[in-house]
Order: sequence, then structure tokens, then C-alpha cells
Amino acid sequence: MLVRVREEAPIVVLGCGHFFTAETLDGLMGMGEVYMMDGNGEFTGLKDVSAELAPVIPRCPDCQCPVRQHATQRYNRMINRAVIDEMSKRFLVNGQDELRVLEQQTKELEQSLEIIRMEIINSIRLLIRNFTIAFTPVKTSKIKNELEERQEKFKEF
Ligand SMILES: [Zn+2]
Repeated sequence: MLVRVREEAPIVVLGCGHFFTAETLDGLMGMGEVYMMDGNGEFTGLKDVSAELAPVIPRCPDCQCPVRQHATQRYNRMINRAVIDEMSKRFLVNGQDELRVLEQQTKELEQSLEIIRMEIINSIRLLIRNFTIAFTPVKTSKIKNELEERQEKFKEF
């Protein structure tokens, strides 16, 4: 596909009212990054820009106003790309923030689970100890002796 963007001595008026020759703006906007050019500065095709993120949304060199979408037909492709990439970057940053919050919550959950685990282990240890104390052979034999003594006493009546 052959795309010819160049017009006769074109002047580009930006949304802010500032105007520049297309040649000047093309360089500033980085047109060479999204269009293929021949040696004479003619645009001959589209570059595949899907792999990398655009640096920033293009701005007017005079007042730094962002060049708005559709205000200037000539730079639509670059502005669209920059706007989409801005959104992608924001999406990535938001995603990382959410991930950080999730990681923190997971850590807190793990800590409280560890506390619960320790409490359960301690309870079980305590139960085992009490059980062992209650049913040591010494104690059972003592109980047995006491019971026998009582029976003997009962027989005496
Ligand atoms: Zn301006």
C-alpha cells in the first residue's frame, strides 16, 4: 500500500492556533516513526508500530498544548497511537498498583492464618498434656486403689 501524505508546500494549523510547515512538524512529531519514508522525505507506507509504545502524546512546540485527535488530520495516526499507548501505560500502572494491594492482603492473610495455626497447635498440645496427666498410670492406679479401699469400707458395713 502506498500512502502519500505530503501536499504542496503544506502548512499545518494545530488546534491551539499555532501553525508550522508540515516539514517542521513532521520532524517534531516523529512522523518517521510511524510512516516509512524514501530519501526525498516522501511517505511511502506504514510502519508496524504495534511492538513498541509511543513516547508521549505529541504537543505543540510553541505552547505545549497536546495535539488533539482529529483536530489535525495529518497526525491522526501518531496521535491515536500515542493516546492508545498512554491508556495502555495507565492500565499497566493501575494493574501493578492493584497487584501490590493484593500482595499486601495476601501477606496479612498468611500472617493471620499462621497465628490461627499456632493457636490450634497450642490447644492440641494443651489437650494432649491434660489428657496425659489425667490418665498417667500412677493416677489410674491411685484411683483404682481408692475405689478398692472404698469397696472394702462398704463391705465392712
Ligand atoms: Zn500551540
